[in-house]
Amino acid sequence: MSKLILVTGGTGFIGSHTVVELQQAGFDVVIVDNLSNSKAEVVDNIEKITGKRPLFECFDLSDRALTHEFFKKYTNIEAIIHFAAFKAVGESVQKPLEYYRNNLNALMNLLECMKEYGVNNFVFSSSCTVYGQPDKLPVTETTPRKPAESPYGNTKAVAEDIIRDFAHVNSQAKCLALRYFNPIGAHPSALIGESPVGVPNNLVPYITQTAAGLRKELSIFGNDYNTPDGTPIRDYINVVDLSKAHVVAINRLISGKNKVNYEYFNIGTGNGYSVMELVNAFIKATGVNLPYKIVGRRAGDIEKIWADTTLANNELGWKAEASIEDTLLSAWNWEKKCRNIE
Ligand code: UDP
Repeated sequence: MSKLILVTGGTGFIGSHTVVELQQAGFDVVIVDNLSNSKAEVVDNIEKITGKRPLFECFDLSDRALTHEFFKKYTNIEAIIHFAAFKAVGESVQKPLEYYRNNLNALMNLLECMKEYGVNNFVFSSSCTVYGQPDKLPVTETTPRKPAESPYGNTKAVAEDIIRDFAHVNSQAKCLALRYFNPIGAHPSALIGESPVGVPNNLVPYITQTAAGLRKELSIFGNDYNTPDGTPIRDYINVVDLSKAHVVAINRLISGKNKVNYEYFNIGTGNGYSVMELVNAFIKATGVNLPYKIVGRRAGDIEKIWADTTLANNELGWKAEASIEDTLLSAWNWEKKCRNIE
């Protein structure tokens, strides 16, 4: 029986791109997803890109009994990449218990099953949100974490702590967290991408939907920040580059090249772009008109953050490669495909 990589949340935005990269690197994959924020047809599109259909199980990982049943059925799991989680910052403020229950129960069920069924390798989808507004930029992995701004952000910080404490007393386990900066873009095939439900919260889906005519104009949330053009700065990372970091992480754990049994890495480009710079880069890359207006600040937004990626570059041998223009063009091509725009 061939070994499998379990990708939870594998039909979601980052999960689906990671399944593609894993399969293209020769791994066999089983996806677990409850389709709460994604569609089953993503599995078909992964197959179209790679020529290989990942296995797929639809259930909720916050259900302990079902999670155990899964591990009893699949005795050949070599490693887990855990993406499955609720991720809307604003919604998490309104529904804190749902967020804590879903995100943390799923994590604990998986860790419990790792121990019980002898799965040793675990990669966790974390976020630069754990740094809050850092005092010093760029942020390295030794930059202190700050209290989270939202229940969602707190689920990431608490999850990291749970994994750290689990690894501390389980010497067989090898755990690795990737702290993503702002993932954007889509697969160059335009067969998979980001599909927000309803009005997008994130900048790039809002930009592409505005360019496609679904939204009247982009609202830029504040131009009175302490940045060169007054708009906030983020480190936007191409989703395919980001997905490749997971393949590298899996290889590191499987081959036992990890230094300690809980490691964490910043996954960004190392470059900061302001909202205004990103808007201009989109217009330049696509040649499409993008109506926008400046409005007030959005509650909870930080001013600026970008990554120091030295550790990921040197230790993982991973580096972001795509240009911001190509990345924005890939997001636009995906939007056009979804809306049947020529
Ligand atoms: N932003 C904006 N208009 C939007 C959505 C986002 O001006 O419609 C800005 C937001 O204020 C932030 C940046 O874009 O400075 C990135 O926001 P996003 O929600 O994509 O990611 P975050 O960094 O908040 O996780």
